[in-house]
Amino acid sequence: MPLETLPVNSPNLPTESAWRVELADAYSRIEDLLTFLELPNREQGRAGLFPFRVTYSYAARMNKGDPSDPLLRQVLPLPEEWEQQDGFIADPVGDRQAVAVPGLLHKYHGRALLITTGACAIHCRYCFRREFPYGEAQLSRSREAQALEHIAADDSIAEVILSGGDPLVLDDERLAELVGKIEAISHVQRLRIHTRLPVVLPSRTTARMVDILASTRLNPVVVIHANHANELDTEVGRALDKLSQAGIVLLNQTVLLKGVNDTPGALSALSERLFELGVLPYYLHLLDKVRGAAHFDLPEASALALYDDLRRHLPGYLVPRLVRESAGEPYKTLVPPSLPERLGL
Ligand SMILES: *Cc1c(COP(=O)(O)O)cnc(C)c1O
Ligand code: SF4
Repeated sequence: MPLETLPVNSPNLPTESAWRVELADAYSRIEDLLTFLELPNREQGRAGLFPFRVTYSYAARMNKGDPSDPLLRQVLPLPEEWEQQDGFIADPVGDRQAVAVPGLLHKYHGRALLITTGACAIHCRYCFRREFPYGEAQLSRSREAQALEHIAADDSIAEVILSGGDPLVLDDERLAELVGKIEAISHVQRLRIHTRLPVVLPSRTTARMVDILASTRLNPVVVIHANHANELDTEVGRALDKLSQAGIVLLNQTVLLKGVNDTPGALSALSERLFELGVLPYYLHLLDKVRGAAHFDLPEASALALYDDLRRHLPGYLVPRLVRESAGEPYKTLVPPSLPERLGL
């Protein structure tokens, strides 16, 4: 079915499940997206390193006729993906060594991260998790039991992070069940969801889903992922509003990406738009040096200059922390380095 005729707003379709239809009908052929954007179709070149995927809702926020649109650039495979670059590897952040039990990453004190699914609604070309062996880590029932046992046995774990892939790709029943099992572990205080769905598939933010997060005894935090103000249209605003109305703390993480948001103007517009929608900027990540993403990389000196500019223009609470994730470090490393690091402690 052509996406343009998708009956997402049809009165016959219950809104609680409209997102499933939209998810299943996401663009999976580059040609279809380019046609929709009124861009010339490219030569039949090589496909990307991993499959192409983007939701209609996200594509609809791209500027038609603009081949360098900042949203398009995040999802469009370029030939550069195939160029081998020194230092760009499969697991730049050391996730594999942090696997406590399959499906559970326990890297930092007090927080454990559950890989709930490998699936995402869109495929971001710079994603560092896409090389992760999800097949080995995905949360089957037996793995879920093992992961929960690990959490239950370690009372230093006060926060469980649902991540992926995208944990909100799980349907509501599965999500409710998982949250129920986590809240049954008495030392867990906080539930954090790392998700891009409120941004790339706002219809996923159903009343039931919001209720699952709002009605747990755990303190809920939702960390969304947006890289450019153009991603945050009124539909996204409504989804975020439902979450904040329910008392859920909203934070955002951004990846600094060449050709997408590598100007002070783009980054401050993003922070200001987030705040307008009730979201505080949390992290600005330097690109994880994953294979095939070198064309998004910015020299560190440029990143620092940009960050300095941002700090000169924005109130402190709208300046995200600039971080780099290094394998084996006890936290995401602040750039510029924190005082103990500068002192060599
Ligand atoms: C990023 C990350 C966290 C969360 O780190 P915060 O600094 O608390 O946001 C936890 N576990 C893993 C494995 C992570 O990659
Ligand atoms: S995990 Fe996040 S960054 Fe990676 S493809 Fe999915 S939505 Fe994009």
